[in-house]
Order: sequence, then structure tokens, then C-alpha cells
Amino acid sequence: MNLSSRQCEYLKLMGIDVWVSREQLLPVDYDDPITSEAFVDNSGMDEWQTLRKQVSGCQKCSLHQGRTQTVFGAGDIHADWMIIGEAPGAEEDRKGEPFVGRAGKLLTAMLQAIGLDRNKVFITNILKCRPPSNRDPRLEEVAACESYLMRQIALVKPKIILAVGRIAAQNLLKTDTPIGKMRGRDYEFSEMKIPVVVTYHPAYLLRSPKEKRKSLQDLQRAVDIYRQG
Ligand code: URA
Ligand code: SF4
Repeated sequence: MNLSSRQCEYLKLMGIDVWVSREQLLPVDYDDPITSEAFVDNSGMDEWQTLRKQVSGCQKCSLHQGRTQTVFGAGDIHADWMIIGEAPGAEEDRKGEPFVGRAGKLLTAMLQAIGLDRNKVFITNILKCRPPSNRDPRLEEVAACESYLMRQIALVKPKIILAVGRIAAQNLLKTDTPIGKMRGRDYEFSEMKIPVVVTYHPAYLLRSPKEKRKSLQDLQRAVDIYRQG
């Protein structure tokens, strides 16, 4: 199966009927002939492990009381792409991995549609512990958890950040602009000047499937920005 037909399958899986030109897609190395072991990069590993440990034992906000485990993040710690969501849900809390529930499966398909394998990006959330009944994160929880995400960004040094959903976008960019207005705008994260692209949360897309098309446009815009960078 060639690359573009495989990517079209992911578009179908997303329930999207859009025409995507071959040029707009990133090449995906599905067979991965060069394993990452061939290029082991240990820079920052100690700090990463220390951070991981800190998060797993963290009690800086009351969310530690209800969690099964923390959800630190997953993927390639030297990735060019960093995907930032809101907080773990029930499934993520159970598995200790971000975006593995229903919304996560849609996110994975969306990433595949633009040629990104979820193992080759780094995925994390604003909060590392699950809020009860999936309520919105509280200001004090975001503030307590923020330094972990800041360290993760500093260590991964992504070339582009995709903020999925209002909570991720507003907290990362310190704004209360509605998400509909943030889409399509150019943002940069901190003095690191990492471009940030904002899109809808996949959980919202599951409720409003018509918006999937817009979300895919956001992702394609991200690919364009990444290529220019
Ligand atoms: N929603 C999020 O924002 N993050 C997850 O990890 C799962 C669902
Ligand atoms: Fe610590 Fe963040 Fe979990 Fe709160 S949400 S306990 S700050 S890791």
C-alpha cells in the first residue's frame, strides 16, 4: 500500500471527506528502516528521568488524591512536534499514557492523516493528573503543574507545538481569547519562539463531527509552518 492511500484511509477513519494533495502530507517512514538505537541521543536524559520521578510522586495540588497514576507524557523526547492537551481522562489515568481513550484514538488518526506517527511526536497535557469527573482544570491546579510542562518543553525543544483544545491553548499562551478566534492565528511560545498552532480538542470533534474538516485544515497549516521553519 502506498503512502497516500494509507493516509487517505486515516482520513476516512476520521470521517473526513477532503481532498489532500500529496505535497501537503509529510512523508511517513512506516517501515522505520533506521531504528532510533542507531542514533541514541542521551542529552538531557538525566534531567528527564529526574523530572519524570518528580511528577510521579507529585502532591503539589489536590488532584494527586484521586489519581491512579500520573500521566507524564509519551513519545519521542527529541521530537520536532509536541502535542499538548488538557488533562488525563479515565482511560489515561488507568494506563498512564496520554490520549489513549476515544478522543485519543481520533487524535492519533488526525496525526496519521498529516503523516505523523504518534510515537515520533511527544504528547502531553497541561495537567498530569486526572480531574474528577473530567471537570475543567482549576487555575490553582494549572499553576501548580505548570513548571513540569515548562521543563518538558525546554528539554524536548520542539520545532512546533500543537495545542489541542481551549484549555491547552489558553493556558499555554496566557490568553482568554476564544478558541475559534485562536485558530489560524500565528503564535509563538516564550522566548524560545516556538510556533504554536491551535486546534479543536478531539473530544469536541467527537461531539461536533462537522468541525473535523476545520481541524484538519489547522493541522495542514501546522505542516506548512513546520516546513517553513
Ligand atoms: N484529553 C486530553 O486533553 N488529554 C488526554 O490525555 C486525554 C484526553
Ligand atoms: Fe502535581 Fe500536576 Fe498532579 Fe497536581 S496535577 S498533583 S501539580 S502532577
